[in-house]
Amino acid sequence: MSDASPSSTRLVVIGSGPGGYTAAYRAADLGLEVTLVEKEPRLGGVCTNVGCIPSKALLHAAKVIDEAAAFGEHGVTFGPPVIDLDRLRGWKDGVVSRLVGGIEGLAKRRNVRVIRGEARFVDAHQLEIATAEGPLRLSFEQAIVAVGSRPIRPPGLDLDDPRVVDSTGALEIPEIPGRFLVVGGGIIGLEMACVYQALGAKVTVVELMDRLIPEADPDVVKPLAKRLGARYEAILLETKVRGLEARKDGLLASFEGKNAPEPQLYDRVLVAVGRRPNGDGLGAEAAGLQVDARGFIPVDRQMRTNLPHVLAIGDVAGNPMLAHKASHEAKVAAEVAAGLPSAFDARVVPSVAYTDPEVAWVGLTERQAKEQGIAYEKGSFPWSASGRSLSLGREEGATKLLFDPETHRLLGAAAVGPHAGDLISEAALAIEMGCEASDIALTIHPHPTLSETLAFAAEVYEGTITDLYLPRRKSKKSD
Ligand code: FAD
Ligand code: NAD
Repeated sequence: MSDASPSSTRLVVIGSGPGGYTAAYRAADLGLEVTLVEKEPRLGGVCTNVGCIPSKALLHAAKVIDEAAAFGEHGVTFGPPVIDLDRLRGWKDGVVSRLVGGIEGLAKRRNVRVIRGEARFVDAHQLEIATAEGPLRLSFEQAIVAVGSRPIRPPGLDLDDPRVVDSTGALEIPEIPGRFLVVGGGIIGLEMACVYQALGAKVTVVELMDRLIPEADPDVVKPLAKRLGARYEAILLETKVRGLEARKDGLLASFEGKNAPEPQLYDRVLVAVGRRPNGDGLGAEAAGLQVDARGFIPVDRQMRTNLPHVLAIGDVAGNPMLAHKASHEAKVAAEVAAGLPSAFDARVVPSVAYTDPEVAWVGLTERQAKEQGIAYEKGSFPWSASGRSLSLGREEGATKLLFDPETHRLLGAAAVGPHAGDLISEAALAIEMGCEASDIALTIHPHPTLSETLAFAAEVYEGTITDLYLPRRKSKKSD
């Protein structure tokens, strides 16, 4: 049901994910009359309904199961978990519903009109919206396109069988499969692999590249790969699935590549090999809106497309496809639409894989520095020397900071370990503020926290660390 049937609006926002709802609400707060169009029954987009939030709820359940099991070694033994999938699913769905309710309430409080239906451009100032009550025409002065992305299903993996799922299907956890094949060792694949393994599935991960989470530095992924390697049935790098065949007793997967095994039977297969932006299917050509061959809508720093009155944000406006990048761009776009002199000038967008251990990074990676010939020096601190990490029963983590050798300013940071994702914001702020190593090292961090490892890594770089013994070297402090 549409909340209203207006025939014209000052600003239309297409899509209600973290990009769309943020843009709509910021624009309304700036005094614009706003209409938000969403094709799904619930607001919140992929992130809230079938992405960030339900996956984190299930990852929390996985962590509770794993931590309870691991603590047997330290003198507290629990019985094997009894998993009531209906209740677990119900809890996860409840978390999502609560957030969706909040987002919908915020629309009402701001007088943002919501239309439920799929929008297509008819021309540069008009949309046709397919609603449950039939098509609706809406003319607009300005538009913000925030239509997100969808999973890729490459040939060979496009078998029409309910046992082959994308992330949305995997989040429904209809059952705990015996053998679970995860195609793609990126963030979605590994987060879902963590969930299913903790619930009791035997997991195999297949990854095309020679390492998991290829965009992160290999040294920070290594502790994760080691832990997963010990728990999973197999991690097949430099390998891909050639095809899937539906059999009564399972899905027969055939492989090719360096570590390809003989064809294997799995109970369920998750395809997580990336996402495609939804720039196609919008009728963009009718408006003269430029969409590239991959489905992205090119934008400038003000989030303007080739049409000055149409802006685009979030997954459809380019990589990285992350919720916090979408919501940041959304505020820029709303402010630009309201005539404010805003622009996207964030230096960095942090990334976090909420696996166990978590892997987080921001700014320059060592791999990028080497590829682009950027000079850097680093300070690393092993969490085996962190009292907080040891008191969590974990010692495999590490924090790494990359500095400009001339200015000693922070260029990039990465961390691996439990809660590593919570540490990376400090590094992002330090990069945005142009902090030098000494700014981080001399900021008093509370003890004992994992956040201390950032200060310790800066002290390692400065040569002032006392929590480790390192071979004598000239202290940067006396430079
Ligand atoms: P979306 O959230 O995709 O929203 C787009 C909306 O537009 C959708 O609701 C869609 O129905 C609607 N729409 C599309 N076309 C039309 C149309 N023609 N008319 C009307 N409505 C339309 N990111 C993180 O930062 N952290 C995480 O932990 C994280 N976890 C994730 C886990 C999973 C399993 C997945 C799949 C993604 C995850 N992401 C995460 C990525 C994150 O979900 C996206 O980056 C984010 O949702 C992008 O926001 P958006 O507003 O651009 O688009
Ligand atoms: P991804 O691009 O991050 O990872 C896909 C992986 O699949 C890559 O490592 C790639 O090399 C591999 N691959 C590609 N084709 C393959 C094949 N045929 N066989 C085997 N491996 C293959 O994509 P994703 O994991 O699907 O995630 C999509 C997007 O969602 C990403 O941009 C990610 O940033 C976002 N996301 C973010 C979070 C988070 O922030 N925690 C969580 C989930 C998703």
